[in-house]
Amino acid sequence: MLFKNHKTPKPAFAPSALPLSGQQEPRSGLAIGVVISSVLVLGLVAVALGVMQPSNMAASDRLSGAEKTNNPDQVAPEQTLVLNIVPVPAPVETAAVEQAPEATPFITETRIRSGDTLATVLKRLDISDGDLLNFLTREPKARSVYKLNVGRTVQAATNDDGDLMWVRYYHTPNAETNGPGVAKTLQITATKGGFEAEELQQPLETHVEVAVGTIRSSLFAATDIAGIPDGITMQMADVLSNKVDFLRGLRVGDQFRVVYETRTIGGRHAGAGRVLAIEFINGGKTYNAVWFSPDGDKGNYYTLEGESLRGAFLRNSLKFSRISSTFGMRKLPGLQAWSGHHAGVDYAAPTGTPIHATADGTVDFVGWKNGYGNTIILRHHSKITTLYAHQSRFAAGLKAGMKVSQGDLIGYVGSTGWSTGPHLHYEFRVADKPIDPLTATANMPTAKPLAEEHRDQFAQVVAPYKQQLQVLAKFQEAVPETSNVARR
Ligand SMILES: [Zn+2]
Repeated sequence: MLFKNHKTPKPAFAPSALPLSGQQEPRSGLAIGVVISSVLVLGLVAVALGVMQPSNMAASDRLSGAEKTNNPDQVAPEQTLVLNIVPVPAPVETAAVEQAPEATPFITETRIRSGDTLATVLKRLDISDGDLLNFLTREPKARSVYKLNVGRTVQAATNDDGDLMWVRYYHTPNAETNGPGVAKTLQITATKGGFEAEELQQPLETHVEVAVGTIRSSLFAATDIAGIPDGITMQMADVLSNKVDFLRGLRVGDQFRVVYETRTIGGRHAGAGRVLAIEFINGGKTYNAVWFSPDGDKGNYYTLEGESLRGAFLRNSLKFSRISSTFGMRKLPGLQAWSGHHAGVDYAAPTGTPIHATADGTVDFVGWKNGYGNTIILRHHSKITTLYAHQSRFAAGLKAGMKVSQGDLIGYVGSTGWSTGPHLHYEFRVADKPIDPLTATANMPTAKPLAEEHRDQFAQVVAPYKQQLQVLAKFQEAVPETSNVARR
């Protein structure tokens, strides 16, 4: 089940943005899934389905009471609960990139295809101006036009007389910044004497969305059904990777609820933002995480209780991805997990899958090690080493004595040495004695605990997420049969 607020382009705080007339729809559409405003549906579920417990009702009364004093007439109480608990970032000023001040131009648009050249793109846009191509090949400010990223949009505008007014290349729709993100656009404007090139940055609009789901086969299968972007799915697995083994430990019936950002520019999808809060039930145990950034810049994920989720060791050396999500399901003859007789954990994975250092350390050994084949050993501190065996090749330039950081690419999965098929054999050794890495990392102290002076701020930030996850859990409990059904 997924709730979208795509239909409310205005900030969710604006009461006029709520599609009140759509209130009946979700009930009739439950079996096939619904896509409506998250703001609306949470309030609706809480009230219309009557699933709120007394303790939650008290909280909702308190919240809506507070809202009423500020805003006595405009908003019905069942909506104010969620209006209060959905932390919507302040609306960003939209720059004037999308609206040209001149009379409405005629705009043609195309997407970059593989094999495109500048000339073929301009041709598809019906631009036959040889001077423009000349200008683009000479002008240093138009450099970004040389990187034709497949799928990105190029627009051209002409006036009533058919004269070219401008060309825009939306080359980086979701540039990573610490803030809300920006879209980078190259604009070429026709001038009296020729052309002018300019790089524009436009702040992205950030939307907060929520989704719930139940694992039936894999995490990606469940998030696909819920309409969650891949970027968010991978973050979900990353954020909780030290608590939940997403490669090997997922169970049918596991559930999740997630609050996350998506980004748009002028109403177009510009990519995923950040996971803000997540709850994941794995094998009956509940794990949660919330994003906390005390200064609005650097941040970390913490449990709702304030425990940092950044472990000193990654649980898995292979990254969770659409491909790796099925590793756990595949069975190779002879592959085994930790046991008294088998000193490591084996991950079946295609040859060439990247292998990552599970912790900061130095390269102790890189080379051939009889039965282990191509092997890397990293030393993390005096007593702990990790070993990665059967690799097809090592990361370029990796040498003994080099320092590596957690998550660094060190090599690639293969089947060298005594191996029955492509897989990573991973060992975790304390004083040269192999121990079960999964148990070891689960009991490892966290890398960065929450600073004492941030505890009050943390409590304030976390409270609305806590409430929101509770409402989502109630929803999932009330209508479990729809909990992995949605439609975009
Ligand atoms: Zn093994």
